[in-house]
Amino acid sequence: MRRQRKVKILATLGPASSSKEMIGKLFAAGADVFRINMSHTSHDRMRELIATIREVEDQYGRPIGILADLQGPKLRIGEFEGGAVELENGARFTLDNDQRPGDTTRVYLPHPEILAAIEPGHTLLLDDGKVRLKALDCSSSHATTEVVVGGRMSNRKGVSLPDTEIPVSAMTEKDRSDLEAAVNTGVDWVAVSFVQRPEDVAEVRKIARGRALIMSKIEKPQAVARLDEILEASDALMVARGDLGVEMPLEKVPGLQKRIVRAARKLGKPVVVATQMLESMITTPVPTRAEVSDVATAVFEGADAVMLSAESAAGKYPVEAVATMNRIAEEVERDILHRTIINAQRNEPEQTGADAIAAAARTVAETLDLAALIAWTASGSTGLRVARERAEMPLLALSPNISTGRRLALVWGVHAILTADARDINDMVERACRHAYKDGFAKPGQRVLIIAGVPFGTPGATNMVRIAFVGSDDIEGV
Ligand code: PGA
Ligand code: MN
Repeated sequence: MRRQRKVKILATLGPASSSKEMIGKLFAAGADVFRINMSHTSHDRMRELIATIREVEDQYGRPIGILADLQGPKLRIGEFEGGAVELENGARFTLDNDQRPGDTTRVYLPHPEILAAIEPGHTLLLDDGKVRLKALDCSSSHATTEVVVGGRMSNRKGVSLPDTEIPVSAMTEKDRSDLEAAVNTGVDWVAVSFVQRPEDVAEVRKIARGRALIMSKIEKPQAVARLDEILEASDALMVARGDLGVEMPLEKVPGLQKRIVRAARKLGKPVVVATQMLESMITTPVPTRAEVSDVATAVFEGADAVMLSAESAAGKYPVEAVATMNRIAEEVERDILHRTIINAQRNEPEQTGADAIAAAARTVAETLDLAALIAWTASGSTGLRVARERAEMPLLALSPNISTGRRLALVWGVHAILTADARDINDMVERACRHAYKDGFAKPGQRVLIIAGVPFGTPGATNMVRIAFVGSDDIEGV
């Protein structure tokens, strides 16, 4: 089983996609990584989903990535007398520390540290930005605001504070317990919501202790302002356009998407474009032209992966949504302009052996029109550095570690294969050729390029490039 595209597809699981049959169908349709949204998933359910994904993995014999997405500090208002109120433009409305039910003049905000941090002039967005307030007068016990854009407001709606640096870590008690449960059950990636500072990422890393890699969701202006530091601290980024478009003007999102994708590509860290990519497919089997164009834009930009949220988790057409993304990706990558754009945005190698070899490997493979690049990679780091080259030919990553294969499922163009460490150079060459043949990447008579670090088992010692013929004996004994 091999994909006919480089960009990867992430599909969120939910009520519409929990059975083994459905998860198998989503994988067959093109999903490379499954996302479990911890905002809506109990620990028991999460463990069931992970076990089911691993069964599908066994069934297809291909490594599948699992991403656990932590809810993060989602702030909410309290409740109203009667459940809801109508806020009029220009009215005064106060958020305070009084637990009694609210009315058209006030409501409880059960986050004292947030009340303490709001300052006059700050914007408050309620219910995904539907209602907009501006703080006028603040103390540690209240924030009186002017209603700039009014509307109906009901119990426990979300609050976003684009101007306020929130003095809490990106992890709540729930997130800590979700994170521990997720890494203990063997997820490959953890996504951190509402990251504001590099320290937020460091905190998650301390708990994960190498058991999972860390993806920072860029969805707050504070994170955009410190993008480089957050990227440095993270293993991957997500352009989380849902909350990003609430916390910042919507029209800024496309430019930010390009900036975030380019920044991550420059460092060779995976980047995911997420949210509303095929939104209309929640209820209809065919997407809008604008949505198709949106997915295409992310693919042209060279993002590592595109993501489905409610489309696959709760929509009426989960399989069709994955299949549609797959079709768009294949077609865009066949477009002659795709290669031109990808090449134009290639980054210079960093001054390391791994990067020098990755760049050389691509050049050699292009000059000789080789069938595939094959990297032996224990930790996945050589795989990542070669993927950063965005080469035209297929990239196979051979690793003795299943977790490496699963992590690389997120990465642009990587076809990971689980295989024991090579015994010696001959074994390394032979097995690389056999796997390339077996998975349909090279035919007898074609040549491939093999990248490795010898002696084996020394991480970070990429030092070898070898051109090899796929011989007719490689088709035996695979
Ligand atoms: P969410 O994150 O779906 O967990 O909110 C993605 C986004 O905000 O776009
Ligand atoms: Mn979000």
